[in-house]
Amino acid sequence: MTQTITLIEGDGIGPEITAQVVRVLQALQLPLTFDRQTLGQTALEQTGSLIPETTLQSIRKNHIALKAPCTTPVGQGFRSVNVQLRLAFDLYANIRPARSLEGVKTRYENVDLIIFRENTEDLYIGEERKIDEDTIEAIKRITRPASQRIIQAAFEYAAAHQRKKVTCVHKANILKQSDGLFLRIFREIAAQYPQIEATDLNVDNACMQMVMHPEQFDVMVMPNLYGDILSDLSSGLIGGLGLLPGVNRNEEIAIFEAVHGSAPDIAGKNLANPTALLQSACMMLDHLGYGDAAQRIHKALVSVLCDTPIRTRDLGGTATTTAFTDALIARL
Ligand code: NAD
Repeated sequence: MTQTITLIEGDGIGPEITAQVVRVLQALQLPLTFDRQTLGQTALEQTGSLIPETTLQSIRKNHIALKAPCTTPVGQGFRSVNVQLRLAFDLYANIRPARSLEGVKTRYENVDLIIFRENTEDLYIGEERKIDEDTIEAIKRITRPASQRIIQAAFEYAAAHQRKKVTCVHKANILKQSDGLFLRIFREIAAQYPQIEATDLNVDNACMQMVMHPEQFDVMVMPNLYGDILSDLSSGLIGGLGLLPGVNRNEEIAIFEAVHGSAPDIAGKNLANPTALLQSACMMLDHLGYGDAAQRIHKALVSVLCDTPIRTRDLGGTATTTAFTDALIARL
């Protein structure tokens, strides 16, 4: 049966990398069709709404979306379009795997970690209030149900994928009540998985450990803000933002997207690396039961990176987005 995927081209480099990822997917001749929708700056210009109802309806109907980065216009009153989308569908798990890629030279060789970032609360609820002209407070909300489901998801993933260790990242030494609750729930759930090693680290220590010895990390779970920061950090371990894929999901709906943003500094120049969105598409193919197709893409990607000097500028090359994809498609 043909699967329809909501396709969001996004803003900035979004349309350029989306076009290349669609070329790769079409080359595989899978029974997939795309329902093109808009979101973010482009949607605002075309429809007057940052998050058009038709886009939400399409995702609600198809349950699967592949989404390029979207720009949130700067200015008062606009909440991040990405945060709003995740909240609209209660996509509580933001899952970001960082794995060393053969052929990409970095300081580290054996990174293979996966971050489970809580996606619905913490400082991202956007509740700030003015006490007086010179004092602003922002609310950090941590609840048992939200913490429980992301921590459970991390352990379930570890158990299903023969992962050995889950690390909780927090700042419970200072935020004794909020992060203290997250850590307490982590320990409760860890007790249900005696076969999996459970450890925890303060976020500052975790940053240091990740840049010193990233190979010690396996599955990691953390509240929203630490997940946002540590996943960009983890992209640095494997070669940069142009490589790191991700998914925002719950049990029903999954939106696959790269970790990076719309990169306005290189937009429209055919310079962007399409790999992060392509790897997100591979996660989508795995999710849809097309693991073999995902493997074919991965092998072609590794072949370009190992056997040729063809790579985009962020990886030290001179190839354009299109030339890089041409080389990859030739190796599928
Ligand atoms: P960014 O990720 O867009 O860019 C950071 C740096 O990484 C830039 O130098 C950029 O050129 C580079 N980079 C990013 N992706 C790349 C790629 N595929 N290939 C090569 N280089 C790449 O972060 P930013 O500048 O902080 O954000 C720009 C916009 O993106 C903002 O409007 C922000 O709100 C939005 N954003 C969207 C998402 C999303 O849609 N999920 C995520 C993050 C940021």
